[in-house]
Amino acid sequence: MNKEELERLLADKKSKDLPYNHILSSMCTYPHEVAVYAHEMFIESNLGDSGLFKGTKEMEDEVIAIIGELLGNSNAYGYISTGGTESNIQAIRAIRNRRRREGLSDMNIIVPETAHFSFDKIADILSIEVRKAKVDHQLRVDPESVKELMDERTICIVGIAGTTEFGQVDPIEALSEIAEDSGIFLHVDAAFGGFVIPFLADRDKYKFDFTLEGVSSISIDPHKMGMSTIPAGCILFRDGSYLKELAVSTPYLTIKEQYSLIGTRSGASVAATFAVLKYLGKDGLKTVVDKCMKLTELLVNGAKQMGIEPVIEPVMNVVTLRVHDVDAVVKALRAKGWEVSTTRSPKALRIVIMPHVNDDTIESFLEALNEVVS
Ligand code: PLP
Repeated sequence: MNKEELERLLADKKSKDLPYNHILSSMCTYPHEVAVYAHEMFIESNLGDSGLFKGTKEMEDEVIAIIGELLGNSNAYGYISTGGTESNIQAIRAIRNRRRREGLSDMNIIVPETAHFSFDKIADILSIEVRKAKVDHQLRVDPESVKELMDERTICIVGIAGTTEFGQVDPIEALSEIAEDSGIFLHVDAAFGGFVIPFLADRDKYKFDFTLEGVSSISIDPHKMGMSTIPAGCILFRDGSYLKELAVSTPYLTIKEQYSLIGTRSGASVAATFAVLKYLGKDGLKTVVDKCMKLTELLVNGAKQMGIEPVIEPVMNVVTLRVHDVDAVVKALRAKGWEVSTTRSPKALRIVIMPHVNDDTIESFLEALNEVVS
């Protein structure tokens, strides 16, 4: 195939991909232009063998310090993963390995029933029982339910700061107290909320980070609200010895050991994350969140005017709406070119307001929704 033919073929495939402007179901978005620039510049960089790519490694170290500082601990230990799934696996694997070395078997962890499905993968991969704690009427995990499920083989409790379906924040402060009282590892899955909550006007209501003494590790994804390129997740531990639990020796590389789940690892998305954080800074990230939250309010108010109520008042830029016959509404919206999704329990229409959404998007989506429901 010559280059022109290949370009035509690629353009044809690209034309079948949906552009983000009508996607309201995804937690990903267009990467920031500086992320694309940096990604291209470091396209061949492989952090699986970081001694060869010292500049990229320096960027990773700085990114870890910047994100750690954002989450209340500039001395956190971690690395840039492929996303929330890898970060969650690695957090649980670290504490599993520690407790296994201490002689424990048949271990379990407790997650909210609203947890992301990555925890079902964890149950399978790590051969760990994953117990699901009940949530309250606001879809936040019930700390009493967590306590009831705990026993002597519980190695970790998990709280979610920004649930995938409802954008709700669990009472991490209460979970932190339980973790401290019982000496149990607390992992916070802030894959989505980590780049949102620190910039909310009412952020003090949603304590979730390392400023809470019981929090042991946090997942936070630059490739979601951090506007980096895919794949970019981040796992941070308060105590660096947990990173050591993940180490395997790498005899023929420039480094002695590797902590990541995968081997060959994109330095490009690390450079992209570095670029966004340096370029936007906290002020720039806040501007992104402010815009998403304004549009979230616009959508909720518009829906209320149609007589449609949200399942919860949105905490962050995830809106869930109570409509009759959710599946039919999703189908009709899709026929009009809108990609939305649904929640499981209660079943509702789910809309994520990512940075690619603007006033016009909300206005025309509300028009479409009005036509569909009436
Ligand atoms: N955790 C939460 C709360 C999520 O919302 C998601 C994805 O939406 C994940 C974990 C998994 O992230 P990834 O798809 O990047 O592996």
